[in-house]
Amino acid sequence: MTSQNLGNVLVRSDLNVPISNGIILDNYRIKKSIEYFNKLEKISKSITFISHLGRPKGRDSSLSLKPVADEMSKLLGRDVTFIKNNTDKKIESVLNKNKKSILLLENLRFNEGEVSNDNKFAKDLSRPFDTYILDAFGASHREHASIVCIGNHLKSYQGPLMSKEIVELDKVLSEANDDFTIILGGAKVSDKLELIKNILPRVNCLLIGGGMCFTFLKALGHNIGNSLCEDDFINSATEILDSVDGKKIKLPVDFGVTKSIDNYKRVNIELNEFSDDDIGVDIGIETINQFNKILTKSKIIFWNGPMGIFEVDEFSYGTKELTKIMSELNVHTIVGGGDSVNAINKFSSLDKFNHVSTGGGASLEYLEGKNLPGVNIYNQLIIK
Ligand code: AMP
Repeated sequence: MTSQNLGNVLVRSDLNVPISNGIILDNYRIKKSIEYFNKLEKISKSITFISHLGRPKGRDSSLSLKPVADEMSKLLGRDVTFIKNNTDKKIESVLNKNKKSILLLENLRFNEGEVSNDNKFAKDLSRPFDTYILDAFGASHREHASIVCIGNHLKSYQGPLMSKEIVELDKVLSEANDDFTIILGGAKVSDKLELIKNILPRVNCLLIGGGMCFTFLKALGHNIGNSLCEDDFINSATEILDSVDGKKIKLPVDFGVTKSIDNYKRVNIELNEFSDDDIGVDIGIETINQFNKILTKSKIIFWNGPMGIFEVDEFSYGTKELTKIMSELNVHTIVGGGDSVNAINKFSSLDKFNHVSTGGGASLEYLEGKNLPGVNIYNQLIIK
């Protein structure tokens, strides 16, 4: 649906960025949120952004969105007025006084009504505005007032960023062919079990690295030394391994190991060489070669989770190599999860990937096949 005059617009973005002592550590989500700002402004009287930040208990000043307002202002090269109270009467007067103003309201979760999806809070929040745009895919798995109830009070649309996320993740869910490979890593297998179950039938190959591979290897009876393992999920890992043809799930064959996470001394060993005190902290050289061969034959790759403790240089080999391989391949690449995004920022660049999801937990839930409270509940806004 196209609209030419949206009036005073309220945009629910996902500006939940890492901030330490008032310094923004990664502004990717802010940059994405203002990508289409200029086009939107042409059809709006004013634009006001809202978002959550972290999980505050009451008004926690360390979780104020003020630094985000400053960063937005820098990126846009324009004044962004920061409003401390989400339902302040002042908002209307600022919007009436200054044409084309840009506002950012304080962390939505400072208000109890936000997380309880309170209709009165949503109504108060909506009062100064004519149009609402939901463009916070990363929060769309939450039944919160700024996602759901607000739609009762304003003409509402699904924003372009969110629609793009859904299109890309639907590619992951709808591809069911020999060209589709998924690569999963990260610490915990328990977080990704439902995702694996839902996607496995659609993929040609699932490559597993990171800490989560050890639960699968233990399920197969291998000695994994002192590596991370979720013993409670060994049965689930066995069920997954038994559910498919043996070649469909590819586990590492060699590893970077250490005797202590803190001494940073890495040794490359094969799977049958684990001693009881070895800790697997990365995938090894031969594994990367084998993964590379499979990835090269793919046409679409979805990647979520690092291959090792990539934050430590000595243990970052597998994640670094995977990032390089994926950046150079001429295939459709979709990446989800904060740590994979950090890895790309560290070892390559985001623009070498076709789609980098800002969704975090929401992308995982979507890929698990869940219906998210905020997805596809409003008409798409198409801005020319
Ligand atoms: P997740 O949030 O489950 O995607 O996990 C990301 C974290 O997994 C990163 O902080 C990595 O350091 C960690 N990780 C990756 N591989 C391993 C491993 N072999 N052992 C322990 N932690 C790991």
